[in-house]
Amino acid sequence: MSTGKDICVVGGGVIGLCTAYYAMKQGHRVTIIERGGPEHDSCSLGNAGMIVPSHFIPLAAPGMVALGAKMMLRPRSPFYVRPRLDLDLIRWGALFAKSATASHVASSAPILRDLHLASRQRYQELARDLGDDFGFTKNGLLMLCKTENALHEEAHTAEMACKLGMEAKVLTPLETAKVDPEITMNVAGSVYFPQDGHLTPQIFIERLTRALEAGGVSFQWNTEVTGWAVAPGRIVSAQTSGGAIIADEYVLAGGAWSPQTVRALGIRLPMQAGKGYSVTLPEPPQTPRVCSILMEARVAVTPMLSGLRIGGTMEVTGLDLSISQPRVDGILESVPRYFPKFAASDFQSLPVWSGLRPCSPDGMPYVGRFARYRNLVAATGHAMMGISLGPATGEILADILSENALKIDISALSPDRFH
Ligand SMILES: Cc1cc2nc3c(=O)[nH]c(=O)nc-3n(C[C@H](O)[C@H](O)[C@H](O)COP(=O)(O)OP(=O)(O)OC[C@H]3O[C@@H](n4cnc5c(N)ncnc54)[C@H](O)[C@@H]3O)c2cc1C
Repeated sequence: MSTGKDICVVGGGVIGLCTAYYAMKQGHRVTIIERGGPEHDSCSLGNAGMIVPSHFIPLAAPGMVALGAKMMLRPRSPFYVRPRLDLDLIRWGALFAKSATASHVASSAPILRDLHLASRQRYQELARDLGDDFGFTKNGLLMLCKTENALHEEAHTAEMACKLGMEAKVLTPLETAKVDPEITMNVAGSVYFPQDGHLTPQIFIERLTRALEAGGVSFQWNTEVTGWAVAPGRIVSAQTSGGAIIADEYVLAGGAWSPQTVRALGIRLPMQAGKGYSVTLPEPPQTPRVCSILMEARVAVTPMLSGLRIGGTMEVTGLDLSISQPRVDGILESVPRYFPKFAASDFQSLPVWSGLRPCSPDGMPYVGRFARYRNLVAATGHAMMGISLGPATGEILADILSENALKIDISALSPDRFH
């Protein structure tokens, strides 16, 4: 291992922080540049906090284009693309359609499985090392289905999971109720993934930030990377609103803003922001012990230290955090259909959070060096899995920065794969 490099991480979301953590542990001097202040919001805070080895199927999968087109017609549906004449969006859509094949799913699933399981293991260590409780719970995940059709589809995913060596059980309504006796459910059945779990993301981010500060990582808050100084094949410095920052290596962890951060370098990173919403109910009528996904509604429900969080939707509407009330209503109205002790009025007057998922067109993150600049490394594009894949990504990044042999083949995650 080579130690003692100066590392500049652009972005203080879960991916930037996890990268800084493992780089710090490998003996590097790390500076995080974050546009927001210490209390800043990002996609990493208001999300559903699930750690999901069960999510081994990338977003770009057979049937997704047709399903998306069907959903787009409904104003309360969980998916929407705002049609616009934008070359990046058109290119992204074409790459998504090209990637949504059975062979892409077959080759991506083992990689995602290994990354999720590695992260789960790292979270166990983090829960011990950070010394404070961030609500990490390994109770599994229930995929709740109201219809036989959805249950049938999810049973197919369970079969695939078992073939990949993971645990998954198809359950009757009675068996589902036994997994989580704390909440009344009205479902046709479920699939239970016992290896999944959840945490409270805003507390995890706070604890991790505190550990990084204590470990000597420097935070440049309220500082934006606005450009770069380059020499042939490498970055010389990051130009920021607070002056130039010179480092040996630069990590791009800017979430949905990553493409615009490297555009001046001549890099066109295919990515779209996938907006989602969440609402956190501090005193729910019932608190489940297991997190769940309401399958037909595509809504995530997670018991957190701060209350019960309900989240969902994927709106591809650019770098826009505005709130579409009909889609939020669509999320909230789905809850009583699965959990009859809840009423839509339980959520009245609660603040709605919105966040932008950084979505690559093939549903796989960008992790690895850019060929064009040998000291620029990508750590972005984690879409709906950034919390789940954060620690595994951070560990891989630290190994790349230290020039250690990698434990996993990451060629499928190359940021240059669409060139
Ligand atoms: C409703 C919802 C539910 C979700 N549920 C889950 C879940 O259950 N499990 C899961 O694993 N994932 C979930 N996700 C996805 C997860 O939240 C994201 O994948 C993850 O937060 C992305 O982290 P990030 O660090 O890449 O980006 P971000 O958290 O967006 O962080 C990027 C940071 O970079 C900063 N930045 C950008 N550009 C610059 C620049 N030029 N200069 C300085 N700073 C810059 C930004 O200010 C931002 O703070 C969910 C997302 C949503 C919206």
